[in-house]
Amino acid sequence: MAHSESRTSAPQLTSEPKPPFPKQHQEAPGIEAELDPQPRWRAPLYREAGKLKGKVALITGGDSGIGRAVAYLYAREGADVAINYLPVEQADAEETQRAVQSVGRKCLLLPGDLTEPRTARELVEQTVRELGHLDVLVSNAAHQARKSSPEEVSDDEFDRTFRTNVYPYFQLVRAALPHLKPGSAIIATSSETSIFGSEKLPDYSATKGAINALTKTLASNLLERGIRVNAIAPGPVWTPLNPSDAGASPEQVSKFGSHAPVGRPAQPEELSPAYVFLASDADSSYITGIVLPVLGGETTG
Ligand code: NAD
Ligand code: MG
Repeated sequence: MAHSESRTSAPQLTSEPKPPFPKQHQEAPGIEAELDPQPRWRAPLYREAGKLKGKVALITGGDSGIGRAVAYLYAREGADVAINYLPVEQADAEETQRAVQSVGRKCLLLPGDLTEPRTARELVEQTVRELGHLDVLVSNAAHQARKSSPEEVSDDEFDRTFRTNVYPYFQLVRAALPHLKPGSAIIATSSETSIFGSEKLPDYSATKGAINALTKTLASNLLERGIRVNAIAPGPVWTPLNPSDAGASPEQVSKFGSHAPVGRPAQPEELSPAYVFLASDADSSYITGIVLPVLGGETTG
């Protein structure tokens, strides 16, 4: 099986790849197959337990990075998955699909641009039509481009960041609600920038703050329907997002993650178990409305 790759017995905290990485840069959205080193997303040390048996999950940004790792771990836990991504990411999406299929689950490929207002509804409808129902929604896609000063953030760019990161979260939830039964879970990917801000990411950080507030609000509102809503706030993660950030130089990419106390970025497989935890009723039935920090040693006060 794809996840039976060999690993040393060294603790993962101290043995995952550290900067400096090879200097590199890509056009957004970035292609995972072109990253060096390749992100680690197969989680070979993880032991599945049927926690999502028979469930269906829709994951945006499921072609690569965190979303791919989540799609694969959900499949290992027994879920069929639908993944959304941009058409240029087809090859990455097919790699995710192969991994999901290798553990005997279905992977529906749903290319589409989330900045188009109709996309969210179409994704939900196609998922339910093809996979039968919807139990877990993971709103995970994002646009990020650093700028050195606030004046460099044009109205169009500010708009694009919100239209990619925030609007689809709400639109997906609204479209999904008629299908979500009690016991369903909604998970949004936030960021450390929602907690600390980020000097060069005013628009992006603001979208992540909005995601946190929306998560808490939806959690309160949907409690009576038995639907839990949570967010995860990762620190730096080795995925295409930063190497394809238009404002990040190849030199900055080579040092990516060195600001985290642990001195390196997370690998996607160090995030995906948290998404299983928050999707699984057996693990987190009393948890709703939280923003779970996964920050490599940063304390949030
Ligand atoms: P990634 O590049 O693998 O995933 C982001 C995905 O967003 C892309 O694969 C793409 O499919 C999707 N996307 C972008 N624009 C889109 C659009 N208009 N329509 C549809 N899809 C679109 O990178 P990742 O790091 O795994 O990102 C996943 C989430 O993690 C994002 O929400 C990101 O903000 C968050 N995050 C990442 C980091 C990090 O350091 N990588 C840190 C904190 C939070
Ligand atoms: Mg991608």
